[in-house]
Amino acid sequence: MTHDAHQKVKASHLKRNAYLYVRQSTLRQVFENTESTQRQYALRQHAAALGWPQDRIIVIDTDLGQSGASAADREGFQRLVTEVSLGRAGIVLGLEVSRLARNSMDWHRLLEICALTDTLILDEDGVYDSAHFNDRLLLGLKGTMSEAELHVLRARLQGGIRNKARRGELFVRPPMGFVYSAEGKLVKDPDQQVQRSVQLLFETFRRTGSAMATVKLFAEQGLQFPRRVHTGPNKGEVVWAGLEHSRALRILHNPRYAGAFVYGRTHTRKTVEGDCVIERVPREEWEVLIREAHAGYIDWDEYEQNQRRLRDNCQAYGADRRKSPPREGPALLQGLLICGRCGKRMTVRYHSRQGRLFPDYVCQREGIEHGEPICQSIPGAEIDEKVGAILVEAMTPVTLEVALAVQQELQSRLEEADRLRQQQVERARYEAELARRRYLRVDPDNRLVADSLEADWNDKLRLLAQAQEACERQRAQDRKLVDDQQRAAILSLASNFPQLWRDPSTPDRERKRMVRLLLEDVTLLREAHLTLHLRFKGGAHRTMQLPLPRCSWEQRQTSPEVVAAIDRLLDHFTYPEIAAMLNDQGLRSGEGKKFTSRIVARIQRSYQLTPRYDRLRKAGMLTVEEMAEVLEIHPQRVKVWNRHRLIRGHAYNGKNDCLYEHPGQNPPRKAQGVKLSKRAAASAVVPQCAEEVQCEA
Ligand SMILES: [Zn+2]
Repeated sequence: MTHDAHQKVKASHLKRNAYLYVRQSTLRQVFENTESTQRQYALRQHAAALGWPQDRIIVIDTDLGQSGASAADREGFQRLVTEVSLGRAGIVLGLEVSRLARNSMDWHRLLEICALTDTLILDEDGVYDSAHFNDRLLLGLKGTMSEAELHVLRARLQGGIRNKARRGELFVRPPMGFVYSAEGKLVKDPDQQVQRSVQLLFETFRRTGSAMATVKLFAEQGLQFPRRVHTGPNKGEVVWAGLEHSRALRILHNPRYAGAFVYGRTHTRKTVEGDCVIERVPREEWEVLIREAHAGYIDWDEYEQNQRRLRDNCQAYGADRRKSPPREGPALLQGLLICGRCGKRMTVRYHSRQGRLFPDYVCQREGIEHGEPICQSIPGAEIDEKVGAILVEAMTPVTLEVALAVQQELQSRLEEADRLRQQQVERARYEAELARRRYLRVDPDNRLVADSLEADWNDKLRLLAQAQEACERQRAQDRKLVDDQQRAAILSLASNFPQLWRDPSTPDRERKRMVRLLLEDVTLLREAHLTLHLRFKGGAHRTMQLPLPRCSWEQRQTSPEVVAAIDRLLDHFTYPEIAAMLNDQGLRSGEGKKFTSRIVARIQRSYQLTPRYDRLRKAGMLTVEEMAEVLEIHPQRVKVWNRHRLIRGHAYNGKNDCLYEHPGQNPPRKAQGVKLSKRAAASAVVPQCAEEVQCEA
């Protein structure tokens, strides 16, 4: 320690603590570069020599294993700065100033605080007082140099990486389904099961057009997807597990599956808090893109097409709400509709009636955004029906192609899945065989090893049985799905698109997919009537107008004709009779039900039609009591006489309660001893309302 150093250290410094800051960039350095760490701790002796007692030398080493590039996540450095700024530090010790900060900003801030609080700085070269101009200049220079050093190191490393990447020779961790060959070339994984799984993923996406649907299909079929373990003791091994949506997306987005080498797809940035953010770089800004660099699972055109589809799908949820992939609901035009008023995509809302789902097409986005009433809402059932009819009528030439493609896809999908499951069984069998051989090879006296190997063998056998069972079960299900008879049915359907279209067993999703093969979009405008504008693929247009769909209470309303008919019929018939007559004519209530006397009664009440009783009374008919008086008999006899048709009664309800026509000038009289049946035949009752009644409804 020079004389100069001792001059700088004053009693005021010695009264305060000495802080020794120890740091290594990475954990690896902490373990391997122990020399440097020891040198850092040895600085304690320097402090002691300058006069600090051992117990006042405080070591801050919480930052071991932290990089010096930023102060953000270096807890120890922050503590050091705090102690200095509070004036508790007399001197700060560090092996090289670079140990304190690799970032000029952090470093200069520390220098400034040191100067303000009269704190000394010590490294292996000497003691500095940052209040002195020359010392500060030197320290500043040292800080800048150390930052520059870091930069040069990094630039040299990155330059090497970039150069290699530009030639397409940079070793990048191969995505699942690829491995590096002995010559260092990227080739498809020789494991057939892995290869087929990746292929199936791409094929399924090609068919369904949605990553989610692909994942669902894998789950339904009980198919597993390979994943390589990157860390831990099992590093490099392939693990089989269910396919996740994020994984499927990553694979679909990865251009390496199209045989391209890329570099610079993402950009890593540090935030103020010290977190790393990985950002995706748009394709035009990728640093390196070499097409056909190696064998791929799809070609570049398909890759681009997939990106477009994925983008379209995600835009269904994004700000723009573009076309969305077909989903399961029955709304035929889901995702194809554009609002004719504001030009936004319309969404589907379902309501259920009598267990069936009915779509409503709604333009509500702006309304939700700004808290206004929604733009327009239109019941969709009739529109769907109309569009379906137009397609059926327009579809004749393309018919065969579409239907056959559907059939072929069904077929190939099942075969493909079955083959994959077979491979799973094969793999399990192979592993069981391996375990058996291992077990047989071990010395039986070595119980410890033999026991664990036996357990392993048993495990493998169980897995094999499970795989076999799953395979058989699924195959049986598939067979149930499409047996020969059904296949024949589908084949016959294949020649008949309209039939395929109307077949209730055709899933809505497939129907929608067919619509998408034909239609680009549909614009809806609700004014005095409904304007429907269809845009076909290939540019053809068709505009049509429909009457405004009735709202739901209108749809359930009894038709005016039926009400008029009931009004007419009430003159001559009771409720049950009217109900039977209406049913005979094939008429139905507003809710589509068969008429009953109760429904007829309700209609009479709610439309305020004159009740039958009043009508009959108005026509001059008499009650039982009045009739009994006229005939001079007991009221009970009136009913008996009516039964025997001596008088004429008209039922006014379902219980056969009657009102009676006036018997006229010459009413039947009691005749002792003559049988009623005989009298009925003899007596000529002249009915007052003798017109023959007819139902005209
Ligand atoms: Zn709108």
